[in-house]
Amino acid sequence: MTGAPEDGRLPGRDQPGGGQNVRPDVVHCLVSLPMTGVLVAASAVLGLVVGSFLNVVIWRVPRKEPVLRPGSHCPGCDEPIRPSDNVPLLSWARLGGKCRHCQAPIPVRYPIVEAGCAVLFGVAAARFGPSWALPGYLVFFAALLAVTVIDLKHFIVPDRITAPLTLAAVPLLGIAAAGEGDWWAFIRALLGGLILFASFLSLNLVYSRGMGMGDVKLSFSLGLYLGWLGWGELLLGVFFSFLLGAVVSLVLLISGVRGTKDFIPFGPFLAAGTVIAVLWGASIIRWYSGSLL
Ligand SMILES: [Zn+2]
Repeated sequence: MTGAPEDGRLPGRDQPGGGQNVRPDVVHCLVSLPMTGVLVAASAVLGLVVGSFLNVVIWRVPRKEPVLRPGSHCPGCDEPIRPSDNVPLLSWARLGGKCRHCQAPIPVRYPIVEAGCAVLFGVAAARFGPSWALPGYLVFFAALLAVTVIDLKHFIVPDRITAPLTLAAVPLLGIAAAGEGDWWAFIRALLGGLILFASFLSLNLVYSRGMGMGDVKLSFSLGLYLGWLGWGELLLGVFFSFLLGAVVSLVLLISGVRGTKDFIPFGPFLAAGTVIAVLWGASIIRWYSGSLL
């Protein structure tokens, strides 16, 4: 798949039958459409597998357990889970959401995380196509999904996710910059990370209850990935995060689901706002600048 975008443009001009009657961009579209479909499908399947791993991360990281060993086991009876019972989505459905040995319920969160990761990976593949940046954004979306579920349940954004994410993001975007020959995007990403980190740290110093240190540590990666795409995406990501946070908090307060003294985690809103800006930011900016003219 490597190098496909460059190669994909050539056949229209050079191949026999491609030049006379059919426009090169149409040929490019016809060639790239099935390829994108395969990439989306393959990414979604990868998302199912990664989602299954995220379920382990989501369970073990807040409990300060090692992530990689031992292998998956039932939290109810400690029985190891056999590989055939560890197939994403299918095993949960086949076992009726219960452990094979002790019949302890397996939360519906497990298939939801697997399906959610598959959808995120699929839409990321559709958004970026076969590009150098795609692997970096898949890692990013997986980390954001884990952060969302952990923050919703435990009210923490763990260092064990934000630190490896940052350590992976810088080289992944560096490789993407080298592959695409766009070092300005990489510099903008680093600047975006620093700007967001400094802004969030200032907010934490002023209002630590609303902006926890976990959010601050996550903000560097958010700025990196949003900044890589553009300043508009960076602004939109922050805007959507705070807008979603404000609207949902207001609804929770008015409906009485949460009281004024209850804590509402901000991590899920940061993740959601950022994902929206990554996927649709460019279209929103185009639409907005078009509607102004
Ligand atoms: Zn069990």
